[in-house]
Amino acid sequence: MRQRYDRAGRAVYRDKRWPALRLAAKRRDGWHCVKCGHKRRLEVDHIKPVRDHPELAFDLSNLQVLCGSCHSRKTRLDLGFDPLHPERAKWRALLKM
Ligand SMILES: [Zn+2]
Repeated sequence: MRQRYDRAGRAVYRDKRWPALRLAAKRRDGWHCVKCGHKRRLEVDHIKPVRDHPELAFDLSNLQVLCGSCHSRKTRLDLGFDPLHPERAKWRALLKM
């Protein structure tokens, strides 16, 4: 389960559009965690997980800036959802194209 999540994420983070998009998200959110206001260890999170919503992977409105601890907390929550979500099959099919 964890492995599948990482694989879906890596495809996005390797994409050449990602660095500019990540920067745009940090600028928009004012270089702080949107949950707790922390300014260190900032990471850009997909509000709707990429594995469930691959079509939103490069949509700025689906991104938010989180610090490392808020991000890992959210990721654990996300992973609590049904791992056999039908969108995941679509995403896997996409990766094979
Ligand atoms: Zn935070």
